[in-house]
Amino acid sequence: MRLRNKPWAKDKLAAYPQYVIANPEECKGKWHTIFNNQQPIYIEVGTGKGQFITGMAKAHPSINFIGIELQESVIVSALDLAIEADISNLKLMNVKAEGLLNFFEEGEVDRVYLNFSDPWPKKRHAKRRLTFRTFLEMYENILVDQGEIHFKTDNRGLFESSLMSFSDYGMLLTYVSLDLHKSDFKGNIMTEYEEKFSKLGHPIYRSESRFKT
Ligand code: SAM
Repeated sequence: MRLRNKPWAKDKLAAYPQYVIANPEECKGKWHTIFNNQQPIYIEVGTGKGQFITGMAKAHPSINFIGIELQESVIVSALDLAIEADISNLKLMNVKAEGLLNFFEEGEVDRVYLNFSDPWPKKRHAKRRLTFRTFLEMYENILVDQGEIHFKTDNRGLFESSLMSFSDYGMLLTYVSLDLHKSDFKGNIMTEYEEKFSKLGHPIYRSESRFKT
């Protein structure tokens, strides 16, 4: 994700507490109260500029969505989309995925989305991939029993290593597409990266995998 310095981003994020959660540690175990309903909670880790999570929240008002993004200069664009959409089933958090266990209680999340995660192609950086075993342990902890990870990328190497990681962890692979846009999958909401790379002719890989109980 290309970074532009946006010194005003922090203040803007702080000005919209109805969308941007300032103290996510205080929300642990209280997300249904925060959303003021008992709807399922789906999170996207590495949400970028928010096109996917906002599109999903608009398309699925009976689900609560939370976008997690570490860069404030990027998530501020997601905030713009949330303000424009004017919806109550979307929250954003400017935090690192590494802290997930501090933000969610065991079993509090119903689904995890990972879209076009940074590939970290070098072997010595494999631990930084959001599909590495240590991240899967965190997702399993915060997800409901048999919770799912839905994953999209245009990066073949990341896709293959992630499928291996899911499988090595003992997860059940329930859906795999090697060319999502030519498949019969319905209801796809494109991310910014997906738009960019599919325009360049890259196939989009997609998987759904489920933790076993
Ligand atoms: N999902 C978006 C899309 O498909 O257009 C953005 C993809 S971009 C390649 C990956 C995003 O993940 C970046 O914005 C990056 O800052 C964010 N990211 C990477 N590692 C993260 C982490 N550990 N916690 C939270 N966000 C992370």
